[in-house]
Amino acid sequence: MALRFFNTLTREKEEFAPIVPGKVGMYTCGPTIYDYAHIGNFRTYMFEDLLRRYLEYKGFKVTQVMNITDVDDKTIAGSRAKKISISEYTKEFKDAFFEDLDALNIERAEFYPEATTHIKEMVDLVKKLLDKGFAYRSNGDIYFKLSSFKDYGKLSKMRLENLKVGARVASDEYEKEEASDFALWKGWDQKDGDVFWETEIGKGRPGWHIECSAMSMKYLGEHFDIHTGGIDNMFPHHENEIAQSESATGKKFVNYWLHSLHLIVEGKKMSKSLGNIYTLRDILEKGYNPKMVRYVLLSTHYRQQLNFTFQGLEAAKNAIQRLFDFLDNLKTVKGEKDNPEVFNLLQKAKSKFEDALNDDLNISEGLGVIFDLVRDVNKLIDDEKISKSDALKVEKQMRSFDKVLGVLEKEKLVLDEKLKELVEQREQARKEKDWDKADKIRLEIEKLGMTIEDTPEGPKVKKKL
Ligand code: AMP
Ligand code: ZN
Repeated sequence: MALRFFNTLTREKEEFAPIVPGKVGMYTCGPTIYDYAHIGNFRTYMFEDLLRRYLEYKGFKVTQVMNITDVDDKTIAGSRAKKISISEYTKEFKDAFFEDLDALNIERAEFYPEATTHIKEMVDLVKKLLDKGFAYRSNGDIYFKLSSFKDYGKLSKMRLENLKVGARVASDEYEKEEASDFALWKGWDQKDGDVFWETEIGKGRPGWHIECSAMSMKYLGEHFDIHTGGIDNMFPHHENEIAQSESATGKKFVNYWLHSLHLIVEGKKMSKSLGNIYTLRDILEKGYNPKMVRYVLLSTHYRQQLNFTFQGLEAAKNAIQRLFDFLDNLKTVKGEKDNPEVFNLLQKAKSKFEDALNDDLNISEGLGVIFDLVRDVNKLIDDEKISKSDALKVEKQMRSFDKVLGVLEKEKLVLDEKLKELVEQREQARKEKDWDKADKIRLEIEKLGMTIEDTPEGPKVKKKL
């Protein structure tokens, strides 16, 4: 089966054909770094990681771009409240974002352009839209004239006529020509404090939508393969990106638009009033391992709503444990006689796994295929009907599946200062043969969610599952 994606633009599953054979240009809307990202955001980033990993598994060379929104109303308000510069304010959340991506084993994109370092590109694009008559100035702001883009609504299937009704009040306030026109550039006002750029189009800052058009086209060209985001990005953000980009270039902007449905928590929409907006840090502080979170975020098909539950995290723990136990079990195989049945099972699993993922990234079915293989091979191991070389082939296949899953790799463990100190103190206690002290320190290490194993090469610290 050929690789197919559900394209929001056509509302159909379409065979994927890249613009340049073997290569994929992909843009993913990234975080606004005014706070820590929540697990809902990571649901979307995880879907994009799955997409990226599967494209790589299929042999494509992927160029992924994810923007970092480091200037907007919220970042400005946050920095002003703390009386620090906007870059100082956003740094904490940017660093945290990358730490979280690593913890979740989300592969890094090739580019993470920041809005504040791409003002020139945005200004150039706005200028082009002004020159071509697709944009107009009003009181220092610059707006996109929606009625000038006849295809508006082709992604979200919203009709321009419907947008215009009912929003007149806002229109008066902002002095736009039409209520639905959106800001490309916001002229400086007092609320912005010292956050502004003096540019050819005036003193101010860019709107959010123009950021993604300017940065995607800079790194991927005016016409590229895939654009993704959570479903809330589809309208108006992505619709506006299309309008700006296609008006400026006269070319089709993106071939495939993929959107993931939202994550909810214990059956309810995340909201401040319910107190159920969890960051990754909140979950890890409760003692869960990032692998479990990764598994939960990954294992529901991206076009289904994901109901995040703590029970689900426990189930993920068991599922991952089963996979690790299976790898250990394979190591115990001693048989010499190859069994052709193993080859058949592997072939069948590989082709079924690929069929599932080719079908619009059906990961839940893909996981089912892997667990069937685990069950069938475990039985052969129990019955001693498998050779050592068969077992190696099975392990190789599991590692290949894991290029997509990303849960079986050894953790790239960076010991933090506290842990390092504890490990050293324990080594010292052992040298002094103070076994009581060494044991106490071991317990402290375990409280941090780690285990320590003494090997001939020295102590090895691992994360507890
Ligand atoms: P934001 O920082 O709000 O612009 O969101 C960053 C990304 O996370 C966007 O792609 C959003 O669509 C996505 N997102 C926001 N909330 C959720 C949620 N509850 N579930 C899944 N994705 C979300
Ligand atoms: Zn965007």
